Amino acid sequence: MTEYHADLILTGELLIDGLGAPPVSPGMVAIAGRQILYAGSASAAPPLSGARRIDLGKACLLPGLIDMHVHPTYYWEEPDAATYTYEPEGSLVYSPVLIALLAAGNLREALMAGVTTARDTGAIDSIMFDVKRAVEKRWIPGPRLYVAGRLIVPTGGHVHYLPGLANQADGPYGFRRAVREEIRAGADFIKIANNGADLTQEELNAAVEEAHRLGKKVACHTSKPPSQRMAIEAGVDTFEHGTPTPEEIDLAVEKGITWTPTLNISQEYLRWCESRWKAAEEGPIGGDRRREIERAKWRREWEETSAYLERKRTSMEYALRAGLRLAVGTDSWMGQVRFSAIADELRWLVEYGCSPLQAIQAATAWPAQAMGWSEIGTLEPGKLADVIAVEGDPLRDIRAMEKVVLVVQEGEVVKSPSH
Ligand SMILES: [Zn+2]
Repeated sequence: MTEYHADLILTGELLIDGLGAPPVSPGMVAIAGRQILYAGSASAAPPLSGARRIDLGKACLLPGLIDMHVHPTYYWEEPDAATYTYEPEGSLVYSPVLIALLAAGNLREALMAGVTTARDTGAIDSIMFDVKRAVEKRWIPGPRLYVAGRLIVPTGGHVHYLPGLANQADGPYGFRRAVREEIRAGADFIKIANNGADLTQEELNAAVEEAHRLGKKVACHTSKPPSQRMAIEAGVDTFEHGTPTPEEIDLAVEKGITWTPTLNISQEYLRWCESRWKAAEEGPIGGDRRREIERAKWRREWEETSAYLERKRTSMEYALRAGLRLAVGTDSWMGQVRFSAIADELRWLVEYGCSPLQAIQAATAWPAQAMGWSEIGTLEPGKLADVIAVEGDPLRDIRAMEKVVLVVQEGEVVKSPSH
């Protein structure tokens, strides 16, 4: 029998390959250089020589996780975006250097939480292209990055008032031009934002067609109806947030479109609204008009967010029955939410009806398929060796995903039990 040379052999009690198959036990991943040589049952492995071995005991081996919706450069301290603006003199509150350093810290945290690939869904000017370069050069630790650049919005659309964040366009050719501008700047994919019907179907169709013509995938922010229907009709690759209806879900399934529901950030926002309204309530009663306005504002926000989350639950139930592909996206933009919230998003997916295996697929194989990233997403021979291990069995309790004990990125151990 041929003996294969591996550089690194990982063994653990369980192995989940990301393809949706039941786990194998005991599991083994053998790595040669940057690639997976073998992944599967340890007892069925071919003869292997020359390797460094890490035995992870009772841990479960999984593909490196993919976070499909991140903003490591967002420095909102509060959800009203007050810090995210120009100072009176016209300069950013934080310099681009400081924002890049914030991103570096966030990305390191995500990598240690098992995120080996992340999709940046919008940032100021060209900061993220440089951050991506720094990760590629191994100057800073972080997930492999796919970067959108600025959000493309119609004039006066989503976040147009936040400096450097939006590329505002109008008309089908204006949108084509904006797509070309972001690609020229270095975009790996295109991010369009539509709240309700800020832009026309014609504009959205043109943008999607132009991006696809140039070989780029499209993600679309769709927080309110009819933006989901518009995005699905235009044929985007992923639609973000929102509460799709059964008809929209059926059409998305038919077109092979993936949904990033971003559950955790809405749950966090709900908690934030509650804490603000309670804090205002505990203040002096009567006479304090400002407190009363505060209380009413956050109470209303809480009610709206609760109702939104209820509609999301209904959408999720139908999406799972219809077989809609889901993708994990944390979208952690508030200062008090940890950037490495991927385990929280997985937990919410399970809470909203996914099986733990489906939740794991939504963080591995499904996003890779949605984006055409054929080198990652599963534990299979020939794929890039992005491997993690978590303590315990995530299929029994998804909270095991919080306990990441090993991270291997392209064959390189970046976190291990001995670290
Ligand atoms: Zn976002």
